[in-house]
Amino acid sequence: MIHRHTISKLTALILVLLVLVSACGKKDEAPEEGAQAGTTEEAAEAVTGEAAAASTEEAAAASTEESAAAASTEEAAAAGTTQAAEVLPGTGRLVAIDAGHQAQGNFDREPIGPGASETKAKVAGGTSGVSTGVPEYQLTLDISLLLRDILEERGYSVIMVRETNDVNISNSERAALANDAGADILVRIHANGSDDHSVTGAMTICQTPSNPYNGQLYAASRRLSDCVLDAYIQATGIRREYVWETDSMSGINWAQVPVTILEMGYMTNPDQDRMMQDRDFQAVMAGGIADGIDAYFAAE
Ligand SMILES: [Zn+2]
Repeated sequence: MIHRHTISKLTALILVLLVLVSACGKKDEAPEEGAQAGTTEEAAEAVTGEAAAASTEEAAAASTEESAAAASTEEAAAAGTTQAAEVLPGTGRLVAIDAGHQAQGNFDREPIGPGASETKAKVAGGTSGVSTGVPEYQLTLDISLLLRDILEERGYSVIMVRETNDVNISNSERAALANDAGADILVRIHANGSDDHSVTGAMTICQTPSNPYNGQLYAASRRLSDCVLDAYIQATGIRREYVWETDSMSGINWAQVPVTILEMGYMTNPDQDRMMQDRDFQAVMAGGIADGIDAYFAAE
């Protein structure tokens, strides 16, 4: 039963939520980078170019953090208190990171969701770099380890599905690890491949609202997918594809926590492949994902 006065509170709550949700999803309406120059960061990016903007942003972020830390230290000293520093964004949050694939695919089959009759390979082989020859499982692990370190610096607790390539963990088992740990979210890191080597871009993937296994997690998963894709695009300058909603992913269907897959870029595009093997650029990629996770929790 719902009383009338709760309805008006609910209406207000829903309005607030709508505003917050639109904060992460607003770029859907303006896919062109040039059309988004509503903030100084974006304007700077338009003027200075993508690579320069990334390092300028980092420098700005670093100096902002430093001066914020310095200010709070000074304030605490001035007040003569032992007040702790500002609470980090990730405090009290548990993030599960699944570095996609593993050294050897596992082509035994498992149900695509709880109780499903349809089955899929436990772990597909993944793609590989057309220029560098680096396998997808290595790139996903490298970025996942960087992401772990950044998230821990920001106060998050992190559970890693894997930290080496020599594992044998099916996609349903990966989701179960996140479920059993009580993770707040599951972030699955992948890279894309295409027969058309000219294709570039990044996308995120979540379930549909009518997913028979965890459709109730759609709204949160969709918002997580928007937040991660927006922040990742913002940081890296990689072309935005879209959020793909599908119920065909075992590792999504078995999840009982909000989940997204990030396809970071196309390893079948020679330039994008080389770019994603640059160590400095990898740090930017991981930082962008972490920013998206921050944005997801900030709006929660
Ligand atoms: Zn993959």
